[in-house]
Order: sequence, then structure tokens, then C-alpha cells
Amino acid sequence: MTRFSITSLLAVLALQTPIALAESDVVDDWCGYLGNRLRSVSTKSCQARNFVAATERTQQGNALVMSDFEATKGNPGQAKRILAIGGIHGDELTSISVVFRWLDWLKQSDAAVYKWRVIPVANPDGLKAKPSTRVNANGIDLNRNFQTPDWDKDAEAYWINRTKRDPRRYPGKSAGSEVETRWLQAQIEEFKPDLIISVHAPYNLLDYDGPVPQPMRFGRLSLNRLGVYPGSMGNYAGVYKQIPVITIELPNATSMPSQRDQLAMWQDMLKWMKHNIKNLAN
Ligand SMILES: [Zn+2]
Repeated sequence: MTRFSITSLLAVLALQTPIALAESDVVDDWCGYLGNRLRSVSTKSCQARNFVAATERTQQGNALVMSDFEATKGNPGQAKRILAIGGIHGDELTSISVVFRWLDWLKQSDAAVYKWRVIPVANPDGLKAKPSTRVNANGIDLNRNFQTPDWDKDAEAYWINRTKRDPRRYPGKSAGSEVETRWLQAQIEEFKPDLIISVHAPYNLLDYDGPVPQPMRFGRLSLNRLGVYPGSMGNYAGVYKQIPVITIELPNATSMPSQRDQLAMWQDMLKWMKHNIKNLAN
């Protein structure tokens, strides 16, 4: 082969490689990482799901991944839409694992009447940091970076006065400064959920923001309203956009609740959804 043709071949390969990586390889790698990192996630069953990587990448080059699950029971054309999100805080490992566990239960008849969009890892840079961090790679708490109407007036003052400049709760220099936050907001705009479920740890409670009657208890978790923070998802979606937001705070960030407790939480949540989500105006 002449020098010219080798150079041409390399040029063609260089052009093609990123295109190939943008497809299933990215999701396979993502599943491989999660399977290694989280005891309750299986790489194989993750790869068998229909996960899709967004074109955006995080500051560390990590993929933002989601999957849609169509309703298969009831009236699929009219199905209410549920957006489930884990791992906005990268060091809350159980919040990711629990969302994966739910994927195994979506076919149950109470759950299959909804259309689900599932985002198990909203802050992959925080998860992959060593050790994992609450904030993203830019040191920003994504759950204080949403573009809420009170952000410009209150976010920095809240951080300084109420958190005493806690670096784990830094809201950033401007609302929506982070690619992860903007991507989550775009998911809400595009999917138009009737309910958002955001999973966290380790405060061992249930929180709620939004227009329908609040849930009182899911399994061992009881309602304990934490209040509304400038830039939080509960504030952005629940107060500003008037989409109900359930925040589940698991009791431990690294150790999963028992299978029995997980199931009780799930069943109570589905019961609450059955009575409250159908009543929402579209
Ligand atoms: Zn959290």
C-alpha cells in the first residue's frame, strides 16, 4: 500500500470512528460501567434495554442516557406520562440502583398503564468521580441549577447565608449553566410528564411539590416537606411548571433497602398514582 492510500485509509477511519461510537457502543460502555460499579445492576440486562444516549456530552465526556417504555395496558394512546430520574447527585448510588430495579417492574399491570421515560444516571460525572461526588465535574449541585424564576434573586444568597457556602450545594454562576441541567429541562419540555419521580438518598423521607394531593407514605418513607430551594427540580417542575414532583429520599446512599421495602414503596407509589395522576388536566 502506498503512503498516500494508508493516509487516506486512516483519514476515513478517523472520520468513521466517532460516528460508530455515537450509537450502541456508548450505551454498551455505560451499561458495562454501571454493572461493575453497582452490585444490583446487571450489565447484560442493562444492554438488553432500549437505552439511548443523547448527542450532548458532559464536561468529562460522559453520555446522558435515557429510555422510553410505552404503555401496554389500559388505553396506551391516552397513557399518562411518568418521568423517573435517579442519580442527580452522583454519590447517591442507591438512587440509581432503585430506578434500575423499577425497570423490572414496569410490566406489572398497575405500572404498564403509563408511558415511562427513565433516566437512571442524571449526573454521570459525579458518579464516576473518585470518590463519587454530589456535584458534577464543574463542582455544581445540579439540583440547585434549574432555571427557576427565583434563581437570580435567591440562589446565591441562599447558598451563602443558609448553607454557609457548602461546596456540595453550590448552585453555579447562572441558572441552567450546566449541560446536565439543560438536558433534564429539555427532557421535561419534550416528554411533557404528568408526574416526575426523582430519587435521592439518604434522608429517609418522601417530599412533594405540585398541584395534586400529596402522598403521605410510600412503604417506610413518610412525607416530610423539606421546603423549596432556588434552582431545585421540585421548584422548577413542581412549583414553576405545575407538574407534580415526588422526591424519594432513600435511607442510605450506598446500601439498598430490602427487596421487601423496595416493593412496598413501589406499590404504595403506584396506588397513589392511580388515584391522583388521572385527575390532572392535560
Ligand atoms: Zn440528592
